[in-house]
Amino acid sequence: MALNPTFVQDFEAQIAQLKADRVYKRLNHLDSPQGPRVRMEGRGEVVILSSNNYLGLADDPAVVEAGHEGLRRYGAGTASVRFICGTFTVHRELETALARFVGTEAALSYVSAWNANEALTATVVEAGDFVISDELNHASIIDSIRLAKAIKKCTTAVYKHSDLDDLRAKLRANRDAKRKLIWTDGVFSMEGSIAKLPDILQIAREENAVVVMDDSHATGVLGKTGRGTAEHFGVLGEVDVITSTLGKALGGAAGGFIAGPAALVDMMTQRSRPQLFSNALPPTVAASSLAAVELTEREPARVETLRENARYFRERIIEAGFKPLAGETPIIPIIVGETAAAIQMSDLLLDEGVFVTGFGFPVVPQGQARVRCQISAAHTRDDLDFAVAAFKKVGAKLGII
Ligand SMILES: *Cc1c(COP(=O)(O)O)cnc(C)c1O
Repeated sequence: MALNPTFVQDFEAQIAQLKADRVYKRLNHLDSPQGPRVRMEGRGEVVILSSNNYLGLADDPAVVEAGHEGLRRYGAGTASVRFICGTFTVHRELETALARFVGTEAALSYVSAWNANEALTATVVEAGDFVISDELNHASIIDSIRLAKAIKKCTTAVYKHSDLDDLRAKLRANRDAKRKLIWTDGVFSMEGSIAKLPDILQIAREENAVVVMDDSHATGVLGKTGRGTAEHFGVLGEVDVITSTLGKALGGAAGGFIAGPAALVDMMTQRSRPQLFSNALPPTVAASSLAAVELTEREPARVETLRENARYFRERIIEAGFKPLAGETPIIPIIVGETAAAIQMSDLLLDEGVFVTGFGFPVVPQGQARVRCQISAAHTRDDLDFAVAAFKKVGAKLGII
């Protein structure tokens, strides 16, 4: 029997349209570990300014060796979900370390932060509850809330980005809701801005709401010792629920987690569907992520190096005449205007040996297309100077500086 031809033809037409609109994403293939410089197929060595490898742990020898050791000791995978026979001792060790690191009573790992976020809302809300979300929250939070709304019939709202008045007003308008959840990113990925966490906590307490913060771009990044947005603001232990990823600063493999009160974490084990119906985090990844957490605890100087590198790059790029969005995170977006300009800039930078992604409409507002630089503790001054020189050359060519 032949395949259904129209099924495939539809996709072929859509892909042709993406290419015609010049928004088709071409994948670049790396042929080396993730690092400050990588080998890119067809390009040779390039400096990467687009990875989430904030602490440079993706190819750290101790992290890699822990993964090897995990593979030897536990084999390739769990072949089970957690509650049947897929819980290994290394899961407990990792989750204990994660809870300690982010300052909560307990933590539970998922195969991704996407999964952790998706799991959370629908598990903890009921009909009559109210969920409110920052308009710039990550897609996984948006989908998590949509799912909760569809299956639990909760009420939902979106507040303007970091607009505390809007947040307060919408919470007040839903005062009668039984449980009220505020969802925010700790660090917003497209802007590099930090949530106004102390104010959000204050409003939450006044309005008897619960704060859920996705700290994926802040874990290992913000705070003196990398414990995230709560440490940055001196409010460790005051956020009701924290979700985060193991795929960024903490080794960059994959996986995510929910951290919070032991009873909440236990309920997630009992009831959250991605936990009940999908395999556990591979023990190899649990082992390498555990090593990443322990290394960060032992050597917080990496976090300081990251901060210094980000400050250095930000200053040099401003000196060069660019106007990055103000901020204090290692996410440094440089606004260039039109989408085509951002894409062209990214292409020209790659020709100069610097890989940095351009983002345009509709990912960011019209006229605010940008290239988003992400700095790592692993970048040397040489790497950063090399990148700035490339930016200068390309910026002048495009008439941006
Ligand atoms: C990267 C990211 C995620 C997804 O993390 P994965 O572990 O790769 O699924 C979720 N939320 C935010 C805010 C992120 O930046």
